[in-house]
Amino acid sequence: MAVDTAERVISHIQADFADGRDSQYLKGIGLRVQDRLGKNELTMTDLLADTGYSNGSNYDFLEQWKVTGWIPVFGKYKPEIEGFPYNKERDEYSCPMDRPLPFKGFSTNKDGTVLKNYWAAPRDCKACPMKLRCAPKKKCKSITRTIYDEPYLKAYARQHSERGWQMKRLRQSTVEPVFGSLTQFYGLRKIGVLGKAGAHKVMLMAAIAFNLKKYLKKGGRKPSIGILRTIIDVLQGYLTAFYRQIQPRAVLIKTM
Ligand code: SF4
Repeated sequence: MAVDTAERVISHIQADFADGRDSQYLKGIGLRVQDRLGKNELTMTDLLADTGYSNGSNYDFLEQWKVTGWIPVFGKYKPEIEGFPYNKERDEYSCPMDRPLPFKGFSTNKDGTVLKNYWAAPRDCKACPMKLRCAPKKKCKSITRTIYDEPYLKAYARQHSERGWQMKRLRQSTVEPVFGSLTQFYGLRKIGVLGKAGAHKVMLMAAIAFNLKKYLKKGGRKPSIGILRTIIDVLQGYLTAFYRQIQPRAVLIKTM
């Protein structure tokens, strides 16, 4: 689900199987929301999502896409390796004994993530008094980093900035009430149909009802020829009316 932070309307909702990671859906959802906003001459500038959507490929995608991502970096990520400063121009690390660990090549882990590998010269490590502590069971010290280190670092810096804290609070105060409303008052506590397509329809109808209520509360045009006509109109372009009224500042993505 994606929710607009300016007006708290649902800008996208979809059903997916639970065997995938949240992060794999971010690009698809983001592109669909952007496309929908674009048809209404609006542009998405910021995207907020929780840690489940954190991965290097998503950070890189948002950078390329010129959308500022406010997605907390996964807990395991370390922006620096203690004792091993990085030299960006030379693309190499140096060790506590001031020996270089230059870039040596790419590899891929079992998730398919492309990694960059750096290692020190075995002759340096062999003669080093720190060898037992630094590279105990190997010929030399090696370092592996994701190819998305740069977008990761940017995301990390944003997350720990003052604005990052504000965006975190905004994310929590935007999506949770909408999520709560859908489960408490719009029948999404359980999905009573089989199959993804059926689940998607149920979720879409709940989102339409939610947005329609918002629209009417904001003084939108009341339906004059009955609820059926209204529903058909809404189904044909249910977000159009909302986006003509509002200027969304950002879109927030949340998995139910
Ligand atoms: S073991 Fe190798 S990498 Fe580690 S401090 Fe010594 S020279 Fe540097």
